[in-house]
Amino acid sequence: MANWDKVSGEGNVEDRRTARPGMVIGGVGSLILVLAFMFLGGKDPLLDSVLNGLAQNSGTQTTETRTLTPSEAAYKTFASKVLASNNGIWPGIFQQQTNGGQYSAPKLVLFRQATNAACGYESSAVGPNYCAADQTVYLDETFFDEIYKQFGGSTGDVAQAYVISHEVGHHIQNLLGTLESGASSVSLELQADCYAGIWAKYAADAGIITQAEMQEAISAASSVGDDHIQKEQTGTVRPDSFTHGSSAQRVGALKTGFSKGTMQACSVL
Ligand SMILES: [Zn+2]
Repeated sequence: MANWDKVSGEGNVEDRRTARPGMVIGGVGSLILVLAFMFLGGKDPLLDSVLNGLAQNSGTQTTETRTLTPSEAAYKTFASKVLASNNGIWPGIFQQQTNGGQYSAPKLVLFRQATNAACGYESSAVGPNYCAADQTVYLDETFFDEIYKQFGGSTGDVAQAYVISHEVGHHIQNLLGTLESGASSVSLELQADCYAGIWAKYAADAGIITQAEMQEAISAASSVGDDHIQKEQTGTVRPDSFTHGSSAQRVGALKTGFSKGTMQACSVL
């Protein structure tokens, strides 16, 4: 368990897990649109995607049904600390390493099953997702149990922090305009892994995570490589259909960010 108490401040986490999913505006039609977008765009609906703002929906129609359980409350604190640790490092990195870029903190929404976002309908089946239109990471953390049951890899807190920091990486791409640059899906995903590596370096330097715990993140990155997932799912590997990069590429990107610690090292992957 990483030393999250060392992180000062809190991230902007909205918890919708206690709310019953209400009538989702756009409903099934919107879902089909999102899934069609992801398939046509080559996005893997199982594992994190980046949506720029199709099917503009507004508001969340939910009803509170209960209070948080102690473990849910602990997870909210954990997610908040991961965001806060990212918010603690990126403003300084932006100041030093980007040409006048301004970092602004992203939001994170915890949900179950389905919820509305500015990008349309967020579904647990999609996995962790960053919506550029509302600068928000959407996460149903039960995803971690499911995905690693299927594909192996660590489910430890640092593994999960890596995934959340990868989504913050997409937020950074959004702030810098990289999401709109026409870069390939694999390039964007590997760069987000590299940015997560930068986060891990700063977290290690600050004594929040240990070198040993970094192995959790490496294990997670390896297990969600496209070649590993394709082999598990279909028995064959088709590099031309990769969306996130191979296990070796993802681990390599994460390690590059971790060892170099600069955005420049993440610029060409
Ligand atoms: Zn991603």
